[in-house]
Amino acid sequence: MVVSVASGKGGTGKTTVAVSLALSAESSQYLDCDVEEPDGQIFLKPKIVERFPVGVPVPRIDESKCTFCGKCAESCAFNAIVVAKPARKTLVFPELCHGCGVCSYVCPVDCIEEVPREIGVVEKGWAGDLAFVQGILNVGEPMPTPLVREVKGQVDPERLAVVDASPGTSCPVVEAVRGTDFCVLVTEPTPFGLNDLKLAVEMAEELGVPVGVVINRADLGDGRVEEFCEAKGIPVLMRIPFRREIAEAYSEGLPLVEAFPEYRERFLELIEKIGEVG
Ligand code: SF4
Ligand code: SF4
Repeated sequence: MVVSVASGKGGTGKTTVAVSLALSAESSQYLDCDVEEPDGQIFLKPKIVERFPVGVPVPRIDESKCTFCGKCAESCAFNAIVVAKPARKTLVFPELCHGCGVCSYVCPVDCIEEVPREIGVVEKGWAGDLAFVQGILNVGEPMPTPLVREVKGQVDPERLAVVDASPGTSCPVVEAVRGTDFCVLVTEPTPFGLNDLKLAVEMAEELGVPVGVVINRADLGDGRVEEFCEAKGIPVLMRIPFRREIAEAYSEGLPLVEAFPEYRERFLELIEKIGEVG
């Protein structure tokens, strides 16, 4: 089973939940798809045993063959190619290129070669018995989605795979949640939390992924998140109260289930509930 853990906004405790979920299951895998800020490693302290680069194929144009017809530029949905006909120049902007391959497909004289442009790395390793995977996007790289796809490509079907998505509802989050069997949405009971939860629920509905909610700092704020979930028929799977000791453990890089072993049982129950409603 593949379970994604997402949140409409940052700072809700998403990684705390994802890490604790992965640590509580008997045979599991943690995949950090928050490739711009992968922080699961802070809590899991994995031993990395494998690392490989990830690239997107970008066009390289052989101007000795190019007729400057402009077909490639007209076909590029991302404005990553400009053909300056009077100057007889064809310019590629690799940072804008999504590697879709359309330009080389439409080129009538076959003068476009695809060369990889590295956007980041995938690292694999172990945190005890827990299989660990993370993507690390290069600094300043604007295109995280292909790296997220590559991290998800490492899912081990023999294990409970926990996919830790980045916060928000943008393309890399959609990519992380897409095709998972269940999505745990972590939120907090505040007006901001509710607003972002609604967006995250909409995203999951569009993707056809069933959801359940974990409310962090559940004893703060108001009851509108609970009311929303009840009205939508979304199960509230767990409530984590605000405790100063929990915040302290987090700031020390200690997973919740290790700092407070009684939570392991609660996360096991969470896994059972996901199995029932997922
Ligand atoms: S489609 Fe091919 S021939 Fe035409 S401008 Fe682009 S690279 Fe040159
Ligand atoms: S590969 Fe796709 S995105 Fe990149 S330049 Fe060609 S058409 Fe544009």
